Amino acid sequence: MENNELEKEYFDVVVVGAGHAGCEAALAAARLGMKTALFTISLDGVANMPCNPSIGGTAKGHLVREIDALGGEMGKAADKTFLQSRILNRGKGPAVHSLRAQIDRVAYHNLMKKTIEDTDGLFLKQAEITDILFEEDGKTVRGVRTMLGTEYDCKAVIISTGTYLGGTVHVGAVSYQSGPDATLPALRLTDCLKNAGMTIRRFKTGTPARVHKRSIDFDKLEVQYGDDEITPFSFSNHEKLTNKVTCYIAYTNEETHKVIRDNIHLSPIYSGRIHAIGPRYCPSIEDKIMRFSDKPRHQLFIEPMGLDTDEYYLQGMSSSLPEFVQLKFLHTIKGLEHVEIMRNAYAIEYDCCDPTELAATLEFKAFEGLYGAGQFNGTSGYEEAAAQGLVAGINAAMKLKGRKQLVLDRASSYIGTLIDDLVTKGCSDPYRMLTSRSEYRLLLRQDNADIRLMPTGHEVGLVSDEQYERLQDKVSQIDREIERVSKVNIAPSEGINEYLQSVGTDPLSNGIKLSQLIRRPKVTYEGLAPFDKNRPELSAEVKEQVELQIKYEGYIKIQLEQVKDMRKLEKKALPPNQDYSEIKGLRLEAIEKLNRIKPISVGQASRISGVNPADVSVLLIWLEQNK
Ligand SMILES: Cc1cc2nc3c(=O)[nH]c(=O)nc-3n(C[C@H](O)[C@H](O)[C@H](O)COP(=O)(O)OP(=O)(O)OC[C@H]3O[C@@H](n4cnc5c(N)ncnc54)[C@H](O)[C@@H]3O)c2cc1C
Repeated sequence: MENNELEKEYFDVVVVGAGHAGCEAALAAARLGMKTALFTISLDGVANMPCNPSIGGTAKGHLVREIDALGGEMGKAADKTFLQSRILNRGKGPAVHSLRAQIDRVAYHNLMKKTIEDTDGLFLKQAEITDILFEEDGKTVRGVRTMLGTEYDCKAVIISTGTYLGGTVHVGAVSYQSGPDATLPALRLTDCLKNAGMTIRRFKTGTPARVHKRSIDFDKLEVQYGDDEITPFSFSNHEKLTNKVTCYIAYTNEETHKVIRDNIHLSPIYSGRIHAIGPRYCPSIEDKIMRFSDKPRHQLFIEPMGLDTDEYYLQGMSSSLPEFVQLKFLHTIKGLEHVEIMRNAYAIEYDCCDPTELAATLEFKAFEGLYGAGQFNGTSGYEEAAAQGLVAGINAAMKLKGRKQLVLDRASSYIGTLIDDLVTKGCSDPYRMLTSRSEYRLLLRQDNADIRLMPTGHEVGLVSDEQYERLQDKVSQIDREIERVSKVNIAPSEGINEYLQSVGTDPLSNGIKLSQLIRRPKVTYEGLAPFDKNRPELSAEVKEQVELQIKYEGYIKIQLEQVKDMRKLEKKALPPNQDYSEIKGLRLEAIEKLNRIKPISVGQASRISGVNPADVSVLLIWLEQNK
């Protein structure tokens, strides 16, 4: 060996990309004992937030709590670097209550990078990966190569390249190859993947301008405060948390809309210069005005990006119009008349895979030991990325340990729903998680993510015995208290009837069980405390569960029945390499779709678009006959 060559290094797992997916994947694999290398184009971009410096939001808050319950990092890091926190949809049912926190972008990056640097068995490296190396069979992973030609041997690779792969930025008539935030793009890996036979598609997303604090007229803006009582993302966080900043609200107006309409021909999207598909649920301001022309105004949120910067983020104003148009339409907005752009808005196109080529473990069906996670799988959002990264990291480790890989079903979590949607239905535009994507959302609340998933996190080895014991103790406290209140009799009294009338429900004329009272919509477990003499000391979390489980008992029972039926079909396994043209009675479209997706169960087959109930019956009969 020439002495001018690096000695070849071996890793169990290599993660390509230190974004939100890559960080979770690498931490999980290393914490499960894998010697793991985490590559990124720039160490200064680890866990970067190129879009909204916020974590959580509708359904995304659920994902973050599920990541935490499974032993992931995002929730802990968010609790330590948040600026303002709120629970969204408080006025609606608990199924859609979602935590959202404004995050200090640089502090989050620093903390996640330090957490990675402090993790044993985890090696963070700045290098662009240009090739995945395969064994002779061209299908089994054996290593990676960097742009400098250095090769690293490994047994598993997780691709989480985000919006950098084939990154091309568009602002008006100008387009140039770049990653987000003016970082270097990754321009070489795509060819390697295509040559290996992987389907590569082109998606796009966009972000708004960042403006200088001194140029915002805050007196003209609505103020948005955080919650007084802050719920942490992490179940292991019992500290009292306080908000550090205020956010603001403004609105576009007819003048804003006119500026954009008058210049829409300068948009790279509306002029047809770029064709990549953008996120349906994060539309640019151009899209909003062109698609919802009846709306007189659109809301935008003005949010600080950190404690040590004067940069403010204009949420809801992503655009790819030329700079002069961006400034012109911003100056029409009350409070932003003199705004100074520090970073202009832009759109970015990037390469991603077709997630139907992945198994529910996030391993590619055609490549042994190759996994995909994050934006590369066709999703959009830090939370969606982190959730996939965690599962891919766990599964790469499980595979190398010869243990069963983790597949979360739709009734266990939003993470399971997300992955099942991706690998079974695919996505025609960047996939964003929504509570409406789950048929079990009353079961999949953010408040019970620990009860649903921490046992799994403990089983795979990411949740400590101590934490798991704390959960078991919490669950038994909940069960005991539900049992107790179902036996406590409340007699009619002046006091109780005064309380009941104060919350707008009927007074008592006869004795009633405490649990029956709690079931009344307006009555709260806390509100009944004065009338419940032997009430034990319980934490807020336990009280919340007692109230929710009693109030929604009926609906929860119905959903649990539906879950039972769903899991019956999930248990009906289908042969992985079945040729469905051999099964008589299946329709042509179903044969084509089943052969492409190769579902692992009748349950998964039933969710493939183009496979209808008649086809499912044919599969069930065939399985019965071929038992
Ligand atoms: C302009 C813009 C607007 C966005 N708008 C939204 C939005 O409105 N809503 C929303 O939910 N999300 C939005 N996002 C998406 C959000 O940023 C991503 O969903 C999230 O960051 C994805 O995380 P990830 O881990 O998959 O990838 P990223 O966070 O993009 O990280 C990718 C990592 O891979 C590394 N990398 C890439 N290729 C290589 C290589 N070949 N070798 C080594 N390292 C490599 C990079 O250095 C980086 O560390 C936006 C992103 C951008 C850029």
